[in-house]
Amino acid sequence: MSPSTYIGRLAPSPTGLLHLGHARTFWIAYERARAANGKLWLRDEDLDPQRSRADFAAAMREDLQWLGITWDAEMRQSERIALYREAMEKLLREGFVYPCTCSRKDLQQATQAPHEDSEDEPIYNGRCRSSSAPIAALAPNTNYRFRVPDGEALRFIDAHAGPQSFVAGCDANADFGDFLVWRKDGLPSYQLACVVDDAAMRITEVVRGRDLLKSTARQILLQRALGFSTPGYFHCDLMRDDTGVRLAKRHDALSLRAMREAGLSTQDVRERF
Ligand code: GLU
Repeated sequence: MSPSTYIGRLAPSPTGLLHLGHARTFWIAYERARAANGKLWLRDEDLDPQRSRADFAAAMREDLQWLGITWDAEMRQSERIALYREAMEKLLREGFVYPCTCSRKDLQQATQAPHEDSEDEPIYNGRCRSSSAPIAALAPNTNYRFRVPDGEALRFIDAHAGPQSFVAGCDANADFGDFLVWRKDGLPSYQLACVVDDAAMRITEVVRGRDLLKSTARQILLQRALGFSTPGYFHCDLMRDDTGVRLAKRHDALSLRAMREAGLSTQDVRERF
């Protein structure tokens, strides 16, 4: 086989046990990397200090291996804060972001629910928006948001879900608004960490769940601001339980761990994908 330039990643958050839905997405990511004779990273997305746990990180590795998934290299986001900070400082200097002092209560008034999928974050009305003047330094204990270009439609072709278009802005016509890039606890948001890592790892295709389609539009804006290229995207369909509810970590019975303990083989699990 010829050497390939395909580089993919598995990016689980160690906040619970992996369930059948994760397994399916990661299996597709693994198969796509394998079909392209490419490389695969395991990226431990352990930035949420309240919810990330080392025992879940160990369990997810074990469960992925049990399923038959292998990877070529590993990294852990909590060890890379300096890199995210560097990217954040560039966004500050170049005027892409602004401090947001809204309290939780202010946010309730300053946001409107997203259109269709209530699982996406509410749209911020730009209450704290300031000019695009450069900001010299990252202030402690401060949230920062990315100023999205009002009315611009962000378009990309998803290799599974097809052509996509999401409008940026802060009014009722927008699909997404000014989003958090840096949190007052001194950590990057998911959006920023993801974009910095996808670029640093030279990811050529992102395979993940369809719930993150709209986040891709946000991430394209960050890639543009930071001078990174945009990888390909493949957003997998989400799995639902018998009542139509999207699988989540609370569906304990459908965790890989529970299925394995109930005596199911990896083959049995894959047949349920
Ligand atoms: N860590 C995220 C999750 O578990 C996935 C992020 C991504 O693939 O970009 O939902």
